[in-house]
Amino acid sequence: MDFIDLKSQQARIRQDIDRRISAVLDHGQYILGPEVFELEERLQDFLGVRHAITAASGTDTLLIALMALGIGPGDEVITTPYTWISPAEMIALLGAKPVFVEIQPDTWNIDPDHLAGAINERTKAIIPVSIYGQPADLTAINRIAKDAGGIPVIEDAAQSFGATHHGRRSGALSLIGSTSFFPSKPLGCYGEGGALFTDDDELAERMRWIRLHGQERKYHHPIVGINGRLDTIQAAILLAKMEIFEEEIALRQSVADGYAKRLADSVLTLPVVAEGNTSVYAQYTVLSSERDALQARLNAAGIPSVAYYSVPLHLQPVFSGSGYHLGDFPITERTAAAGLSLPMSAYLTSEAQDRIAEVILQ
Ligand SMILES: *Cc1c(COP(=O)(O)O)cnc(C)c1O
Repeated sequence: MDFIDLKSQQARIRQDIDRRISAVLDHGQYILGPEVFELEERLQDFLGVRHAITAASGTDTLLIALMALGIGPGDEVITTPYTWISPAEMIALLGAKPVFVEIQPDTWNIDPDHLAGAINERTKAIIPVSIYGQPADLTAINRIAKDAGGIPVIEDAAQSFGATHHGRRSGALSLIGSTSFFPSKPLGCYGEGGALFTDDDELAERMRWIRLHGQERKYHHPIVGINGRLDTIQAAILLAKMEIFEEEIALRQSVADGYAKRLADSVLTLPVVAEGNTSVYAQYTVLSSERDALQARLNAAGIPSVAYYSVPLHLQPVFSGSGYHLGDFPITERTAAAGLSLPMSAYLTSEAQDRIAEVILQ
């Protein structure tokens, strides 16, 4: 059993992928070829945004967004301690300070009730992460950011691409949205990739320049940028995967329903989808007070599982100079100690789910 089954999907669309990769090999425009711009249009339509800007990864997208906002030394950027390191890492890379805010006990996303208290005159941006596939409460976060004088909000939708918040797609919920096309994400390519989303024309232009060495037009560089482009071949692969993505979202949700049904009587805490949200279940994550024992039992039965973010970001050595300590974020720390992600993909069979549930309920 695979933790994330990428093979079944590939078997389904292999011909289309081969055809699209061949087309790239034939035209030979490996960098910013036509597939890149076709994909950006598809993404704009999918999210209902004015601009989609593809990039080399879902980490570069965060870096590009922060650079476009002019974040630098002396600035503070608020983010969540319960996630992959990229947002906090890119904040620190630019010389700014990541300021962590406690998460909600049920959705495990940043808690808007703790947000206002973390804002001060140095706060230059907020990066909520939509963890495990469910949008953060961007309605409340946007309102708090606006009331605080219009602080830019960048949603890290690396895990939630395809999910919705009050009918609007994740990635299109704030000033800037960022996603990743890492192979195991809900929409993944066969290498590195990511994209940025915004309705703001000026920001979009700056982010396009930064993606390409700060270049406005050939050999004219008004600002500092990076080499942050998505490969044409990855764009071609993503175009093939976009064809079946809506259907896969529905399949992922029915797999999640299958888990919820089978595990309803267990002692585990199951994921909760807040009112107004849908989730794409990048992960199906449960909480167990005996997480390590449960993982060992699954392991012995040949069932893979992952304890993501078991060391939350405020306790990572790289941020040890930031003045955070064990006990600062009890809900984060409790979730990090109890969280276990089970096998998840659109193609997980009900027989596999039966087996997983059987081992868990033993
Ligand atoms: C995967 C991920 C990223 C980074 O994406 P890459 O494409 O691997 O750089 C950033 N943020 C979150 C929340 C992620 O899950």
